[in-house]
Amino acid sequence: NQKKLNWLGFQKKERTERIQMLKDNGFLTEEFEQLLKKNENLPLETANQMAENGIGTFALPFSVAPNFVIDKKDYAVPMVTEEPSVVAGCSYAAKIIGKSGGFTTKILDRKMIGQVALYNILDFDNAISIILENKNEILKIANDAHPSIVGRGGGAINIEAKNIDEFLIVYLIADVKEAMGANILNTMLEAIKIPLENITNGKSLMAILSNYATESLVKAECEVNVKLLSSSMETSIETAKKIELASKFAKLDIYRATTHNKGIFNGIDAVVIATGNDWRAIEAGGNAFAVKNGKYEGLTTWTFDESTNKLKGELTLPMPIASVGGSIGLNPSVKAAFNILGNPDARTLASIITSVGLAQNFAAVKALVTTGIQHGHMKLQARSLALFAGAKGKEIDIAVERLLESGKSINLENVKAILEEIKI
Ligand code: NDP
Repeated sequence: NQKKLNWLGFQKKERTERIQMLKDNGFLTEEFEQLLKKNENLPLETANQMAENGIGTFALPFSVAPNFVIDKKDYAVPMVTEEPSVVAGCSYAAKIIGKSGGFTTKILDRKMIGQVALYNILDFDNAISIILENKNEILKIANDAHPSIVGRGGGAINIEAKNIDEFLIVYLIADVKEAMGANILNTMLEAIKIPLENITNGKSLMAILSNYATESLVKAECEVNVKLLSSSMETSIETAKKIELASKFAKLDIYRATTHNKGIFNGIDAVVIATGNDWRAIEAGGNAFAVKNGKYEGLTTWTFDESTNKLKGELTLPMPIASVGGSIGLNPSVKAAFNILGNPDARTLASIITSVGLAQNFAAVKALVTTGIQHGHMKLQARSLALFAGAKGKEIDIAVERLLESGKSINLENVKAILEEIKI
């Protein structure tokens, strides 16, 4: 991406001007420019087909975090979140990390795992041997149950079996190509259930995909140029050291680790939702992965290299994200999000999302070890309160500014009083 991008004043622009900037910077095609300008959303008829007992559609803010550089490519990242400060923090982090060379990612693998749990097994060793002896036949049954994924160059590729307590667990590993693969795997697993019962003389309890997607790991890394952390080198170095300490703290204390990881998912979920993917699946897998070393830990690692003045960040996560399937092709806003990202394939999207998680964590941790989280939050909180109190147009900024300057508590009563003064 050789084009010089212009994001000047993006956050202060009007909504339609932002859409125009996305277009001018080459991140939006005409079709989606119109769709976004008209704020066209999920049609009711489609919504009614997607979930049961529908009574309408439910809206959330749709935002963009510009300035991402991931694997040397520029991105503006669509985010759907109701939480103030998330998009601002993410954009800030993207800018600093972008100026430091951006994110580098690695797809460690991209396969899905499903399992059939068997019980009433008399001889586990014998049953495991029989399963492994019949591996090719079982794989064939799985693939015959979903031939179209084989036609796409994917399909079931391996089987493993293990005894845990009274269960014999059979793991089926499949390449699901551009899909997340839940339905693909579940179809395959249900097809091999009875044959597995037959060859082991056991009973099957269930057959289901696992969200612990340890064969879909993605690693995102960045090296922040420490001098960008503040205007003074001394403060910058101190901040870098504190970020390293914060990362250590999150590895040691579960109370901190949980919040640390929640911050990572603030960014990840926002993109996962915007791109129509299953955020419960990504959260469940990520949180389970946080226990990979035997205890729940913070998922990112930050280290300060004093010899180069670089702050190195790393985040590895299961990221079984899809570019097709589920609701992806159905929701026009999701299509717009894909358009803004340049219609990435599943691997590229997984890299983008993992990088956003690292960016979000950087923003949160930096704020925590410097100004504190409330500093930025309060401004946005004041904005939400002003909106709630009925402020319109220019009144919003004036009310926020006056409230913050007054040093008074950021609450509805004070916002209302200020609004009344403005209106007089
Ligand atoms: P789909 O059931 O929508 O299947 C994706 C389909 O897309 C494929 O079967 C394939 O069908 C088609 N397709 C088109 N192009 C490609 C391509 N290049 N690569 C792969 N497939 C392609 O989605 P998933 O199987 O991915 O399942 C995801 C859904 O399942 C999500 O909605 C998720 O919420 C839900 N789910 C999640 C569970 C969990 O997380 N535990 C459990 C159950 C459901 P074809 O080849 O025939 O065209």
